[in-house]
Amino acid sequence: MKSASRTIPRYFSDKPTARYICPECKDGQLVPLKDSFEFEEPKYSKQAHGLEEWDPDWIDYRFIFKSVCNNEACGEVAIATGSGSVDQRYDSEHEAEYYERFQIQSFFPAPYLIEIPEATPLEVRELIEKSFTLFWPDLGAASNALRASLEVLLDKLKLPRTMIDKKDKEQRLSLHRRLEIWGEKEKEHADLCLALKEVGNLGSHGDDVQPKHYAGVLKIFSHVLFQLFENNAEEMKKLAASIQKDIKAKKK
Ligand SMILES: [Zn+2]
Repeated sequence: MKSASRTIPRYFSDKPTARYICPECKDGQLVPLKDSFEFEEPKYSKQAHGLEEWDPDWIDYRFIFKSVCNNEACGEVAIATGSGSVDQRYDSEHEAEYYERFQIQSFFPAPYLIEIPEATPLEVRELIEKSFTLFWPDLGAASNALRASLEVLLDKLKLPRTMIDKKDKEQRLSLHRRLEIWGEKEKEHADLCLALKEVGNLGSHGDDVQPKHYAGVLKIFSHVLFQLFENNAEEMKKLAASIQKDIKAKKK
């Protein structure tokens, strides 16, 4: 599956080009204003060029650029900042050349990295939005916030958080156990969310999360939320009915 390995663009060379979902209207896209892109090399980095052992990969840059929502009625303005370095690539003649490579480290307001259905409970949405904010500086923390949003989703679905053990004591249920309980009723959704739990666990233990895994579980989570909170079947029925109505009206 091609989309499973798709990552969310966090790096760029030369100038920013990627577009992201506007967090304000969720309809338009944040488009980078190329002229707003500025980068500079701080003094400490420039000074190091004089050292004998200096190498181009010591170079540190700082950058900023502005993105504006292309939905005219919205026009949200978001600011991205980050760091850069110099890397080598091969041109069409197979000659090595140096180029600037940048990594976005913060984005405000943070773009939506995936669509979330309108009817998603607010607490779940807020944690997903927190995850979108954390994605830029800290992928592990972003995965952890996503895992927390899954816990809250299970609360909303009235799945127990605790159980009474043999000694009559209340014990907290692990997320894994809660998913198993959910799976007794809705196996398909619960099984999909196991992947989210795995990635979230890596985040909470401080282990490295791979960007493609984060992007993958976001996609899965969005799919599950749409299944749970947006009645697509109803919408499709309405769409079909409106098309038929339109066609009939034209025939008259
Ligand atoms: Zn917008």
